[in-house]
Amino acid sequence: MSKKSKKLTTGVATLVAPASHAAIVPVRDRHLRFNERWNYSPAPEVHTDIKIQPRYDLFIGGKFVKPSSGKYFPSINPATEKQHAEIAQGTAADVDKAVKAARRAYEKTWGKMPGRERGKYLFRIARLLQEKMRDLAVIESLDGGKTIRESRNIDLPLVAAHFFYHAGWADKLDYAFPGRKPQPLGVAGQIIPWNFPLLMAAWKLAPALACGNTCVLKPAETTSVTAMHLAEILAEADLPEGVVNIVTGFGDTGAAIVNHPDIDKLAFTGSTEVGKIIAKSVAGTRKKLTLELGGKAANIICEDAPIDQAIEGIIQGIYFNQGHVCCAGSRLFVQESIVEPVIRRLRNRLSTLRVGDPLDKNTDIGAINSREQLGKIREMVESGKKEGAELFQPACKLPSKGFFFAPSFFTGVTDSHRIAQEEIFGPVLSVMTFRTPEEALERANNTPYGLSAGVWTDKGSKVFKLATQLRAGVIWAETYNKFDPASPFGGYKESGFGREGGKQGLLSYLKLG
Ligand code: ADP
Repeated sequence: MSKKSKKLTTGVATLVAPASHAAIVPVRDRHLRFNERWNYSPAPEVHTDIKIQPRYDLFIGGKFVKPSSGKYFPSINPATEKQHAEIAQGTAADVDKAVKAARRAYEKTWGKMPGRERGKYLFRIARLLQEKMRDLAVIESLDGGKTIRESRNIDLPLVAAHFFYHAGWADKLDYAFPGRKPQPLGVAGQIIPWNFPLLMAAWKLAPALACGNTCVLKPAETTSVTAMHLAEILAEADLPEGVVNIVTGFGDTGAAIVNHPDIDKLAFTGSTEVGKIIAKSVAGTRKKLTLELGGKAANIICEDAPIDQAIEGIIQGIYFNQGHVCCAGSRLFVQESIVEPVIRRLRNRLSTLRVGDPLDKNTDIGAINSREQLGKIREMVESGKKEGAELFQPACKLPSKGFFFAPSFFTGVTDSHRIAQEEIFGPVLSVMTFRTPEEALERANNTPYGLSAGVWTDKGSKVFKLATQLRAGVIWAETYNKFDPASPFGGYKESGFGREGGKQGLLSYLKLG
């Protein structure tokens, strides 16, 4: 800092302003200049008190047990590339043990327990999650690379909210479906991805348990640590043994759950590719299936939209969380008359985003979850360049270690480009233009996916027109990526079927007599 510079304390960070900062900066360049001239001091979340165990075993029948293979695989911190734990590699024999434990628990305790008693367990789990929220958020960020701001402010509160919400349903299922007799399905096999590790576990476990099912859950191989901490919470809540079993491992462990003959219900969230394999394996069996797969969401900005608000929605929709959201607004449709101000503001806003240490409270974009995912993002970006689209990336310094990718967007994208059709699952946006809302609708729907979409306009009538004709399971208007346990989530077409959350989500875990 030069002698003449001033130091301003903001509460979360120290802004270091060069003495010349008062120089007149044209409005259009303010964001860019701001980032060049002002540096935040690091504001890392303290985590020396938080313990990641060197090794995590499987959780079967209420106990932590070693995998039958005796094998463990490394869990890497994607921001440092350092191994911080070993995870048990579950086999088909372990899955079989877990399914048997779940079946016993279903028949002896959980399946027979009155809803009001099940609800008490769920409330207890929710309260324990709330108590341990800070630690779990830090572990989530260390293990998966997402920013502490996301894991602390979004993931963990939603995890607890999911258990609270479903605790409330456990003794009210008869009222949810009047005149019907809701019955649990039995043993649920649940396979989840790495983008929202604990939240996906909560989305799967909470409704299944509220409805009286028992579970065998498999977390993703790159993000298993918080699931095992959840297992500790379940044990602490005295959940009867075998009601939830957690088997870690790779795709073959997941396949062993899918193909186990004593599974009554399968719930999968992950890639469309694996979803299709699962759908084929389950076809012709009695297993009930729900799939939540990929997406290529359209975010539509009409010319009468509040542009600044829309820009924040776009940033929230694709850049925060590293674009690791299946419902990310990764195709931006901008009405032609406002292209210039939208692109200018987008460039400016991207230039202020901070990429780096996920545990720093100032970080906007954390680490990409794995080297493999980083490779996929790079490959897609290369294909965009080769196909003729124009890439914008702000000048931003990426950490020398770890898996990071600068926030980026493409202009000059056509509907046939791969970057307009395929999921990138990274902080990369494809910008396209349209003339009329009808054209936007047609092109937004021109994708094999149908998970989510966003609409930005000043006119309520236009929101209704677009929202009713967009073929997507979830449509946000004047906002993006907002979740609530009471609101059902799920897709159309190759984005899957079935809903999670809300009363509709209960139907995935019940048969109605
Ligand atoms: P992503 O591309 O987001 O990693 P995947 O669909 O590959 O998504 O993985 C999502 C989850 O599915 C992970 O828990 C993974 O281990 C599991 N999985 C991968 N392959 C299979 C399979 N053939 N059968 C069942 N589960 C699988």
